[in-house]
Amino acid sequence: MGWTRTGMAFHRYSLSFLSPRLSAHPLPRSLSATISSHQMSTDAQSVAARLNSAGFIRSQGFIGGKWTDAYDGKTIEVTNPATGEVITNVSCMGGRETNDAIASAQDAFVSWSKQTAAERSKCLRKWYDLIMAHKEELGQLMTLEQGKPLKEAIGEVSYGASFVEFYAEEAKRIYGDIIPATLPDRRLFVLKQPVGVVGAITPWNFPLAMITRKVAPALACGCTVVIKPSELTPLTALAAAELSIQAGIPPGAVNVVMGNASDIGEALLASPQVRKITFTGSTAVGKKLMAGAASTVKKVSLELGGNAPCIIFDDADLDVALKGTLATKFRNSGQTCVCANRILVQEGIYDKFANAFSNAVSSMKVGDGFGEGVVQGPLINDAAVHKVESFLQDAISKGAKVLIGGKRHSLGMTFFEPTVITDVKSEMLLSREEVFGPIAPLLKFKTEEEAIRMANDTNAGLAAYIFTSSIKRSWRVSEALEYGLVGVNEGLISTEVAPFGGVKQSGLGREGSKYGMDEYLEIKYICLGNMS
Ligand code: ADP
Repeated sequence: MGWTRTGMAFHRYSLSFLSPRLSAHPLPRSLSATISSHQMSTDAQSVAARLNSAGFIRSQGFIGGKWTDAYDGKTIEVTNPATGEVITNVSCMGGRETNDAIASAQDAFVSWSKQTAAERSKCLRKWYDLIMAHKEELGQLMTLEQGKPLKEAIGEVSYGASFVEFYAEEAKRIYGDIIPATLPDRRLFVLKQPVGVVGAITPWNFPLAMITRKVAPALACGCTVVIKPSELTPLTALAAAELSIQAGIPPGAVNVVMGNASDIGEALLASPQVRKITFTGSTAVGKKLMAGAASTVKKVSLELGGNAPCIIFDDADLDVALKGTLATKFRNSGQTCVCANRILVQEGIYDKFANAFSNAVSSMKVGDGFGEGVVQGPLINDAAVHKVESFLQDAISKGAKVLIGGKRHSLGMTFFEPTVITDVKSEMLLSREEVFGPIAPLLKFKTEEEAIRMANDTNAGLAAYIFTSSIKRSWRVSEALEYGLVGVNEGLISTEVAPFGGVKQSGLGREGSKYGMDEYLEIKYICLGNMS
């Protein structure tokens, strides 16, 4: 592959042709048709070539509504983790570009924050419509740069878009309050106002959804944003930014810079104009950002690592528990912060569950995300594989036994066998930290109290799952778990209408739902005196 930047420039503005409303130069019919997965070859290269010629692959940053190269011309490669091929080279930006993006966002804030809620809502709704109209192409782009199976990628596009739709509606519901006054000649009001420019730093595991669930509520509230997507998966973010412009979201309201993460992070933290940092990623980087935000006292929301327990009680419905555990463990090859990290199984059902679970795992098809029937793609990079291998080695050296899998897949690259490992103990790395890979560690417990103690024995507190047929137990255990999210008899619980976020060192703040709006609003108290 290896397109030149000149080659890319030819298609620089062609995505706008896909929007009939804003198109100044309609494309020939053959090109203006959206790309249907039914016509697609499963070969990643031909998918990439088609996306490129349809203008979906962008290589520059997006500042003040303009596609912009890094000021020193530097670029970085974006590769397909399934094949190792370079998809394209994107601009490698740093502090200077970030400062310009912040200035553009500040300019845009002045007018965007003054638009009526209805006007902002319409733009967001249009953005949602455009994302959904191009969900196949965006899904293909995501599979290409991230590796997740195409069906899962298209599912993420719908999930990511759902935040835009939800917050388009919520924009109209930013209610204040009137407080009964303590003195007869006073009137007390509470007004909610946008915080200002937001810096949104996102990871590679959900290249679209982690962006939309920050950017959509921010825009709905009247904020403007500078997005820093992961350098591993910037292409979906750039395509979504293009669609935001087509949707009528004004230039400067959405900016995208990528490249040198720490330089970009420092510029966002140092700027007094950036009033809020919202971050999804590792706990280590989250802590750095939180400390860095202190110098300008920014609002911060953080969605950090988890160490999700998945507790299967003796009284669970085995089929429900199997289905739910498989879904929460192996989604995105185990690379999500809500993936089950420890599967705690009560002794009475342990053997039955371990057998049935291993059988189910052994039938999972691993391969290129474009392949037919593939449910698990590659891991994101070599570092991810090394982490998985070192956690496995640690567990095996301390007495754990591999039931199934346990090594790199014969496909090579960063493919790893879906793995089930038993006799896992609390002191092993697999129990202490997030493995972020397709490894399912089984731990045995005797009593409910022991399960709760084991589940809470971690600094993390994002998602937890329990499987039980007892309503009383489901309440009791849900209340006792020190987690921000609890799934009962269900492994996939994230939705735009419910609050997502962690306790303890898993983070601060919530995303999604009406609570997700609060992160982008300041509360102003207005006291009218001398009113009698
Ligand atoms: P992950 O392990 O999921 O890649 P990271 O926390 O390393 O988690 O990355 C999440 C996001 O944070 C990415 O966009 C990454 O580029 C960015 N990032 C990493 N280090 C820094 C930093 N020092 N300042 C700002 N952003 C950073």
